[in-house]
Amino acid sequence: MIQVGLKPSVTVKSSCCSVRQTLIISISTGFSDLTHPTDVPQNSKLLKGVNSVPSKCRFCSHPLEHTFVNLGMSPLANAFLSQEHLNCAEKFYPLHTYVCSNCFLVQLEEFESPDSIFSDYAYFSSYSDSWLRHAQKYTELMVERFGFDETSQVIELASNDGYLLQYFQQQGIPVLGIEPAANVAKVAEEKGIPTLVKFFGVETAKELVSEWKQADLLLGNNVLAHVPDLNDFVAGMKILLKPNGVLTMEFPHVLQLIQDNLFDTIYHEHFSYFSLLTVEKVFASHGLTLFDVEELPTHGGSLRIYGRHEDFESIAVGDRVAQLKAQEVQAGLNQLEIYVGFGEQVKSTKRQMLSFLIDAKNQGKSIVGYGAPAKANTLLNYCGIRTDLIDYTVDLSPHKQGLFLPGTQIPIYHPDKIRETKPDYLAILPWNIKDEIVSQMDYIREWGGKFVVLIPQVEVIA
Ligand SMILES: [Zn+2]
Repeated sequence: MIQVGLKPSVTVKSSCCSVRQTLIISISTGFSDLTHPTDVPQNSKLLKGVNSVPSKCRFCSHPLEHTFVNLGMSPLANAFLSQEHLNCAEKFYPLHTYVCSNCFLVQLEEFESPDSIFSDYAYFSSYSDSWLRHAQKYTELMVERFGFDETSQVIELASNDGYLLQYFQQQGIPVLGIEPAANVAKVAEEKGIPTLVKFFGVETAKELVSEWKQADLLLGNNVLAHVPDLNDFVAGMKILLKPNGVLTMEFPHVLQLIQDNLFDTIYHEHFSYFSLLTVEKVFASHGLTLFDVEELPTHGGSLRIYGRHEDFESIAVGDRVAQLKAQEVQAGLNQLEIYVGFGEQVKSTKRQMLSFLIDAKNQGKSIVGYGAPAKANTLLNYCGIRTDLIDYTVDLSPHKQGLFLPGTQIPIYHPDKIRETKPDYLAILPWNIKDEIVSQMDYIREWGGKFVVLIPQVEVIA
């Protein structure tokens, strides 16, 4: 295991790309069994790397000493490559998650975070029909439960292309989106969704309050996990929420990640992985009380938490909060053991997956992928699966066709390619929409093709 703290960075001029790139050079150190940068002797000259400072928990500042899972070095999951960049150096960053032994927040270690993660984000929410239905249903639920109307203000953090706020706006409810990626915010503005291009935190919240903007409903779907400065973000929510306002946040549930072996949902844009037990502590430390929680099927199992100011007691704390916390305690999420055992489970899955693929290739079978989601890039890079095992993948999104997966350089084609090449196996990479893909691609059975799902374990669907 090579440590990022032992890697000096060197700036080189790349010959085929016109931009200057920082190349991280690995140096063999002899400390191959080290598990954490803090184990490295402090006087080592090699420590002048990108991560010489010992990591601390991003919520409680306790030193991070326990690995949750180490997925090695990986490129950014959305850094798709065009043909002309195939001969250029790619940047790889450590994908090493820790668990805090004090608050049990599972988190990605600090690394030299590239601005490119969010500034030109490739993901447009509106391209997924199921996600749009989810957003519409959420809107109906909120209006019905809390009675929002044209006198209310809805504010969404990380509002993407306005995919959700459009439904509130259709009901005449004033909306405001806050979105750091300028290219997606522009799409929202074009749809008539007012959008502020900013990162959210205390500073942005204060600016809005000074302009008399505060939220009756403050929401964020799949943003809490993406926030590097968690405390500043939640402190900002405390400021932006009206005294009698309600907040909701959705994020993948770490219980499902562990139980269903969803290690491929770990990537650089996801800094934190929450249980209800931990997220409740985070909000409580900023004067916010969680009064309800729902379990959702999205992203393999997510939570939607409902919060309010701690002194706004006219909304009572519902039973579901205590029930789910009890379930988490039952599963051991308040103990270190379950977290530190996860890494072994992942290694075993990798061996099983590679055995299947290698056996199939030895039998002369062809294997192609379906989908090019971010999670596929974690999986394929961690397992070292390239075109030697999977010939190509396909994706419906025209933005991805013609490009190559980062790191593994597997080409992405239009789904029609499958009918042309008639592969023996179709590996479904976005397992969360497995059923949809199986019914859509049913015709592979005409030539005896079979579907394969790799997560939580290899499963062939005949
Ligand atoms: Zn902590």
